[in-house]
Amino acid sequence: MNYGHITLPSISIPVAREVDVLVIGGGASGIAAAIAAAKGGAQTMLVEQRGFLGGMGTVSLVPAFCPFTDKRKPIIRGLGLQLMERMKQACDPEYREEYREVLDWVPIDPEVLKRVYDDAVLESGVTPLYHTFVYDVVLSEDRRSAQGVVVVNKTGRSFIPCRYIIDCSGDGDIAALAGVPFQKGGEAGELQPGSMCYLLANVDRPKFRRFLEESGDTGQLHKTVELAIANGALPEGRKSISGLAWISDYLVGVNFGHVFGVDGTLAEDLTRGAIEGRRTAERQLQFFRSYVPGFEHAHMVASGEQLGIRETRRIEGDYILTVDDFLAARSFPDDIARNAYYIDIHLANSKSEMTFTHLPPGVSHGVPYRIMLPVGIDNLWVAGRCVSSDRAVQGSLRVMPNCFSMGQAAGTAAALALRDGVGSRGISVAELQQRLLEQDVWLGEDFIPSEEQKEGNAP
Ligand SMILES: Cc1cc2nc3c(=O)[nH]c(=O)nc-3n(C[C@H](O)[C@H](O)[C@H](O)COP(=O)(O)OP(=O)(O)OC[C@H]3O[C@@H](n4cnc5c(N)ncnc54)[C@H](O)[C@@H]3O)c2cc1C
Repeated sequence: MNYGHITLPSISIPVAREVDVLVIGGGASGIAAAIAAAKGGAQTMLVEQRGFLGGMGTVSLVPAFCPFTDKRKPIIRGLGLQLMERMKQACDPEYREEYREVLDWVPIDPEVLKRVYDDAVLESGVTPLYHTFVYDVVLSEDRRSAQGVVVVNKTGRSFIPCRYIIDCSGDGDIAALAGVPFQKGGEAGELQPGSMCYLLANVDRPKFRRFLEESGDTGQLHKTVELAIANGALPEGRKSISGLAWISDYLVGVNFGHVFGVDGTLAEDLTRGAIEGRRTAERQLQFFRSYVPGFEHAHMVASGEQLGIRETRRIEGDYILTVDDFLAARSFPDDIARNAYYIDIHLANSKSEMTFTHLPPGVSHGVPYRIMLPVGIDNLWVAGRCVSSDRAVQGSLRVMPNCFSMGQAAGTAAALALRDGVGSRGISVAELQQRLLEQDVWLGEDFIPSEEQKEGNAP
């Protein structure tokens, strides 16, 4: 929808107080980035367009945290693991009991998680600014650094100046506005589909379990979904449910089915996706009630405020992490995290196949610092699902545990850059790694601290 352009009269807008580190986007990556930057001593503001934190995990009701382990041991530790454990502690006693020892596929109670995130950012000294959308970035004359962002909210428009920016918008909005090159989707521009996740109350888990035992169907309901598709009760498409996440015996989070052809960087597409997603969810509710014992009286208490978006931009950074790095379980001198989650690319249309590529249990690859450094800009990091990788690796790196790790590293790096008065590429990576180790981040069994780190006097 573009019928030409108009030129607006130049306007002057109020300037807010300068902050050291501005984090844009309050999903898993932004929460971790902001907390890490604030704990590192930087005055930090976290700007989020919604009235709460959590990104896909709360906005779009993604029902569970992907694994924090490599099937042998926890490999995502640090802030992400602490926040998930904190959510468990804030949940009901039955929930705590059931998931006490679980680190993989832990169900999300979205209302609990929102409050946990609020508390965690406030305790760390971050200034949150919700209900605020960033729509422009102001660059220096040489276009090598960002001077701040232009936001709009109920108060009006304003400019927030800052020393450093961490783009955790999931879509790389700030990097794209700053003119950093990016790729979007596959060769033909195809994108992974979105999904409208939702919460069903008034379900009966013991009855559902008995049904699985008696019918021999899987937890993803392969047989039942195929039958419903054959009967025309569900449309053609994925022949199983992606996930049921049981928050209690009577409340379950559902991730099921796809909405195709939605580009999450276009408002028109998001609008269509929301409407189609809600229609799909309603049809699925009828399927559950009619086909799945234990769901006869299911009641949909909430669907995602936005269609869940799996992929949009991949911002070009100093290094592009590739599928070859993933398969070779490669480590890098500037690793800031490890990843073992499988490549999980969902079909681009109802006829195409899904791609899954697993690393063997106990194996992970390194996540280098350079994939968070957008080319050409000195005071900007990108963390989260839009970091610099090829499409296959994005299908793995994009999940919440990894977003926490990357955010924590970016925030820690920003605080170091502030202290030393340098850009994102001017910090000591050895010191960054040392700081992350001190924050309980795991960098791999083969990680060899540099001489500086061993002596405890990294510059
Ligand atoms: C259907 C679906 C199922 C998934 N299943 C799982 C799963 O089971 N487990 C798992 O761990 N991961 C899963 N994922 C992946 C995971 O949820 C996301 O990739 C991850 O949350 C991305 O985190 P992020 O911080 O990069 O971005 P997001 O979570 O998208 O957060 C970005 C935040 O930035 C805000 N924002 C964006 N632009 C602006 C702007 N211009 N101004 C202000 N604010 C802005 C948004 O409102 C949002 O809160 C799933 C994803 C989808 C879509």
